Amino acid sequence: MIYLDHAATTPVPKAVADAMYAVLAEQFGNPSSQYPLGLEMKRQVESWRKTVADALGCEARQLFFTSCGTEADNWAVTAACWQNRRLGRHIVTTAVEHSAVIESCRWMERQGYEVTYLAPHADGSIPAEEVLAAVRPDTALVSVMLVNNELGNVFPLADIARGLSAKNPQTLLHTDAVQGFLKVPFSAKTLGADLITVSAHKIGGPKGIGALYIGPRVKNPRPLLAGGGQEGGLRSGTEATAQIAGFAKAVELRTDRLEEKLARMAALRAYTVKRLTAIPDLKLLSPAEGAPHILSVSLVGWPSQNIVNDLGSQGICVSAGSACHRGRPSHVIGALKLPKKVSGGAIRLSFGPETTEADIDACADALLRHHDTRMPML
Ligand code: PLP
Repeated sequence: MIYLDHAATTPVPKAVADAMYAVLAEQFGNPSSQYPLGLEMKRQVESWRKTVADALGCEARQLFFTSCGTEADNWAVTAACWQNRRLGRHIVTTAVEHSAVIESCRWMERQGYEVTYLAPHADGSIPAEEVLAAVRPDTALVSVMLVNNELGNVFPLADIARGLSAKNPQTLLHTDAVQGFLKVPFSAKTLGADLITVSAHKIGGPKGIGALYIGPRVKNPRPLLAGGGQEGGLRSGTEATAQIAGFAKAVELRTDRLEEKLARMAALRAYTVKRLTAIPDLKLLSPAEGAPHILSVSLVGWPSQNIVNDLGSQGICVSAGSACHRGRPSHVIGALKLPKKVSGGAIRLSFGPETTEADIDACADALLRHHDTRMPML
């Protein structure tokens, strides 16, 4: 199998699965238990928290484990709005956020909030000035993702943070960094966002575990789950110890010679551009300067679901837009306002550290065969 869908999810290395198995089978204590098995698990969870926090560039006490990136996004939006409920009922976000943010904003709209969804330029970019221009005195929250999951655009978060603190210092800034964590260099300390979402399964960790960074400007954050007081009383529920162990092990593996891995992925992306642009009717949708692991293209005129099915039958996994949208047309590609022939042929390739040029060659050959043997239908 040739797996080119690392932005959807990633394979779990054996070392990660082993770390999880050891917790499930041997170190299965509840971190709240007061005998050695539990106390040791509590100590371990805190050391795993530190591993993830170090990679994110924050203090361990600022990192809260959640059940996934989606949960962290939901929590960030509601916590920021709660803190600023007296400031106002306006949110600024983008039309290309993951649905975890978009749907949280829609929910806030049903609670009486007004939401500005900023449209991207044709290349998927949204300049910091356009984000800042949308901010008003009553803006409670600005939520802009770090890396777009379909196009790979890197959004100017540091500039947005700087501009926001000058224009409206009370407005809180959230970034969904699920596709940026360990893919583009950043640190919670220097980025300037108040809330940062990450998820394990995009970096070789298990599904079902994410985390939210909560910075010092979020005072008394509203608890997400009430109960036994885990996660500093903010997100109760017995810790998902095996998932957390897997998350930390995945971070440990990824951060080992990370720069080398990112440089390899960037070179592979450039190689992919070269191979794919040689295919007739193929158009690049991703920007030239994007995150190293994501490349969206369109085989203009050929329906993307047919391409995904055809390549899939040859053991090549690529996605038609975001896997999270299952069959529905992608709102990200839709936001680019492309002609139907172009948007209808959009597919995404995404890489991991283990992807090779031979994988790309096989995919490029299969795409060319698809072009040459199937009728365009759009
Ligand atoms: N945000 C982005 C940008 C994503 O790509 C994803 C997953 O596709 C999520 C959030 C949701 O993360 P999770 O699958 O952990 O809920």
